[in-house]
Amino acid sequence: MKVIRYTQELRKVLTKVNGSIGFVPTMGFLHKGHLSLVARSKAEMDCTVVSIFVNPTQFGPNEDFEAYPRDEAHDLKLLENAGVDYVFIPTVDQIYPANNATDVLVTGSLTKGLCANTRPTHFAGVTNVVSRLFNIVRPDKAFFGQKDAQQLMIIKRMTEDLQMGIEIVGCPIVREPDGLAMSSRNTYLSPEERTRALSISKSLFQVQEMIDSGKELLVKDIKNVIRNAVESSGGVVDYIDVVCPKDLVQMQDDSLIGDSYLVATAIYFGKTRLLDNILRM
Ligand code: AMP
Repeated sequence: MKVIRYTQELRKVLTKVNGSIGFVPTMGFLHKGHLSLVARSKAEMDCTVVSIFVNPTQFGPNEDFEAYPRDEAHDLKLLENAGVDYVFIPTVDQIYPANNATDVLVTGSLTKGLCANTRPTHFAGVTNVVSRLFNIVRPDKAFFGQKDAQQLMIIKRMTEDLQMGIEIVGCPIVREPDGLAMSSRNTYLSPEERTRALSISKSLFQVQEMIDSGKELLVKDIKNVIRNAVESSGGVVDYIDVVCPKDLVQMQDDSLIGDSYLVATAIYFGKTRLLDNILRM
């Protein structure tokens, strides 16, 4: 495995790769969720590139950019064991040159609602960094987690709209044995908050069972099940939404849940904001 910190050097080695290139962009502090994306790339592609870059532009002014957990040495061990070919760890000025005057933005319903309500500049930061990383790596396929479902849809849309010729592969949410969706931010949780946070996945599983049982279910009933569970465990709701998975437009509270849905949540336990969802396309 080769660690590369400079764009030009990465371009040089990747132009010599004979075969398909798979790419997994991350912000590091890796866990089994990230490694599942790496495993998928390893299984499907000849060469796997992982980036580690805590992207400042996707954090709002009062968010956790400085505090975001980092452990490069441990990440590199995990990636080496996973058989990664190249790890790209750029500095901020490699990605955003000082005279940068270009923004890549996805507009419309995908970047409204859900996380965009509390994080209005977040997805602009995501599309700016991912478009730059895609141009540097020029992969055939890139692998993203369904845990960040809105991000996955936005990246798919950006890639299609800009005709980048990169296949975006969405991968299932990897969970702790007790159900909590894995996240680098789980490290912020106190042991008590972590136990209380299980109410998120438990209530989502409960909702999934209710839907699968074939009962007629209103969107508002689904939201209430989750809200009651997380609030009675001390969680503070940022959002609990049921949206159409294609355009992320909200389903009306009084409408029946159909065959295709994204039930997405962002819930605070203490200061930690946790995402989870269930998706059927
Ligand atoms: P991050 O380092 O948080 O930016 O995440 C990098 C990639 O890993 C994104 O595509 C995430 O959606 C994905 N990811 C993060 N957590 C999980 C998880 N628990 N299961 C699957 N993918 C995940």
